[in-house]
Amino acid sequence: MSVLATNLGFPRIGVQRELKRALETYWRGQSSKETLFAAAAQLRERHWQLQQRVGLEHIPSNDFSLYDHILDLSCMLGCIPDRYGWQGGEIDLGLYFAMARGRQGGGKDVTAMEMSKWFDTNYHYLVPEFAADQTFKLSSSKVFDEYSRARALGIKTRPVLVGPLTYVTLGKKRAEADYCRSTLIPKVVPVYVEALRKLQSLGAEWVQIDEPALVLDLRPQYREACSTAYRDIAAAVPGLKILLTTYFDGLRDNTDLAFSLPVTGVHLDLCRGPGQANTLANQADDILAAALEKAAGKVLSLGVVDGRNIWKNDLSLSLSRIERATAKLGKDHVFVAPSCSLLHTPVDLAAEQQLNPTIANWLAFATQKLTEIATLARGANRGRDVIYDELNASDAVRRHRAASPDIHNQEVKRRLASITAGMKQRHSAYAERRKLQSERFKLPPLPTTTIGSFPQTTEIRQARAAFKSGEIDSAQYRQAMQKEIRTVVDYQHRVGLDVLVHGEAERNDMVEYFGEQLAGFAFTSKGWVQSYGSRCVKPPIVFGDVSRPKPMTVAWATYAQSLTDKVVKGMLTGPITILQWSFVRDDQPRSVTSRQVALAIRDEVADLERAGIRMIQIDEAALREGLPLRRADWQAYLDNAVEDFRIASCTVADQTQIHTHMCYSEFNDIMPSIAAMDADVISIETSRSQMELLGAFIDFRYPNEIGPGVYDIHSPRVPTVDEMTALLRKARQVLSPEQLWVNPDCGLKTRGWSEVEQALVNMVEAARQVRQQV
Ligand code: GLN
Ligand code: ZN
Repeated sequence: MSVLATNLGFPRIGVQRELKRALETYWRGQSSKETLFAAAAQLRERHWQLQQRVGLEHIPSNDFSLYDHILDLSCMLGCIPDRYGWQGGEIDLGLYFAMARGRQGGGKDVTAMEMSKWFDTNYHYLVPEFAADQTFKLSSSKVFDEYSRARALGIKTRPVLVGPLTYVTLGKKRAEADYCRSTLIPKVVPVYVEALRKLQSLGAEWVQIDEPALVLDLRPQYREACSTAYRDIAAAVPGLKILLTTYFDGLRDNTDLAFSLPVTGVHLDLCRGPGQANTLANQADDILAAALEKAAGKVLSLGVVDGRNIWKNDLSLSLSRIERATAKLGKDHVFVAPSCSLLHTPVDLAAEQQLNPTIANWLAFATQKLTEIATLARGANRGRDVIYDELNASDAVRRHRAASPDIHNQEVKRRLASITAGMKQRHSAYAERRKLQSERFKLPPLPTTTIGSFPQTTEIRQARAAFKSGEIDSAQYRQAMQKEIRTVVDYQHRVGLDVLVHGEAERNDMVEYFGEQLAGFAFTSKGWVQSYGSRCVKPPIVFGDVSRPKPMTVAWATYAQSLTDKVVKGMLTGPITILQWSFVRDDQPRSVTSRQVALAIRDEVADLERAGIRMIQIDEAALREGLPLRRADWQAYLDNAVEDFRIASCTVADQTQIHTHMCYSEFNDIMPSIAAMDADVISIETSRSQMELLGAFIDFRYPNEIGPGVYDIHSPRVPTVDEMTALLRKARQVLSPEQLWVNPDCGLKTRGWSEVEQALVNMVEAARQVRQQV
């Protein structure tokens, strides 16, 4: 009996984003269902075979999805919202994609299901919707088909299902539904039982049930429902081995609950622990110790290889943890595994073409992580000597990385150590600044502005691509971008906006643009990670101390300002957002890295001000989504975020106006921190909620200025003047005219000019009308 090498899930998208291409060709009507299915089958088989070749003993199936695994589960459970007109029976591809993406045309017009972030990752799942009288019924054979298909290839897989607790926790009930969601757990259990029995009859020995909800704060009724559910499942499907997987944090107060469940094994994430959001101290050893106390008789699956980051594993450290577990539980009760599904890492480092080889040598993507897992299992079974070379190489990489001059910048460290209280404080209080600013800017009440970006046209993309490939030189590129800036400035003049922007044509992404210019960041050419459906992102890699060699935005902003007498806002991305959307260092706390970014942004703010830019916006689009999973960790995260923002912004004079912008405006619980950032103006996303989200600001009596978005830029619809005046009147009831700004919900880069032009004309007109009543 031995320690097994296992995996929890593999990226679906394919090293060349084959799935993306297959999906999008199908959606455009340029390929058949059969072609799409064949592409999907090929990816599944390739990934199974890869895992088999590497020597994994538990290979997952049903981790693949054409769009999203939670949507697949809604299909399996027959949880299909009424508006799709499903009559029971097989869920065809048309219905599946209608739920994923909405469907318009052919006499049909139905919206997509809501999307939400999968825990604290950048992966989005489709939120299950529960009706007032929700029932469940086994309605998809996907999990069986994939198991059987692998079996036919000679691979006996471990099918994966997200479990009942997590499924119900992540869903939302319709407004008219008057029950506690936890009461749905016993209702889904019979469907799980049916599915598990079927898997067992097909030959499955182990099934992986993912319950990441066990790392959240759980109310008693959910814990009880969870206990009952697993008791019922175990009783109904005796003999089937269940691995209960938890990830993204430690179990903490749910440790007893998890280990009390009648399952064969429990998986722990040993790469993220309490306080992970802010401290390096990933308290893996404590988590492991707590688990070993409870794990007698159970298999423990050790998530020692990080499924959320891209650094090579510290094999010696991991092996010592595995050895601790085998000493206590015996080799036949220990699995080696990634911390979570490898879905959140890029597919294969071997595909990289542009990475600096020194940095590439520090990294492991999903494919490389499989080998690390197999190596560790080998070492655990046959002794350290058997993997002597691998251990040596791993140690050498760590030493090399730690000592690398590319990582360390003494000047940055010195600056970090000498941050003073004064650097985190505007000169005067807001009330003082407001007087000076209103004298300086002389804006009308309800001033109009936008969030920064304007539509990214094909021309813009082509110019950027041509510059990257060397087809045009930097002078030609500058001309092309300046032409775009002129177009955007002229347009804003014509429409009559009060505060202008330069339009962000030069940025393909609000984080990548800054990462490319900051020292300490690296970029991949193929490091794609699925964000939702066919959409992938390529997060930058923060590998070293961050500094700003030279100004990043000043030339564009001052060029725009030179074209107009109106104020042009400078546009920057904030430290928390830059961190949240990157792969970050694992050799120092996150808070140290974000502090370094904050100082770099501070330099940019100072340069913008010196160059005559009078308003500066620092976007913290990801502040809300970066909140830790457990409430107990929120305050430390928020305090750090506030400090970072203040360090970035507080260098300016009182007359310079600092703006910030945030997406996802569910701020009810965190208003004191939002206020503590002390931006002069904040713009937020409120139009879809009909200004409801503004409530948090009102209840809190938010003292500074606010621009509640009145134009929903996530939809191609052009809002009418009346819709926007109605929203503004709502806002007017609770905010004074001096406090209220008028702007869209978010940047306009994903919209087309045809929509934006009319929408902003309407927005300015709406502001004019409401202003008249002031
Ligand atoms: N300034 C950015 C833009 O307009 C903000 C984007 C965002 O909040 N996601 O594109
Ligand atoms: Zn936004």
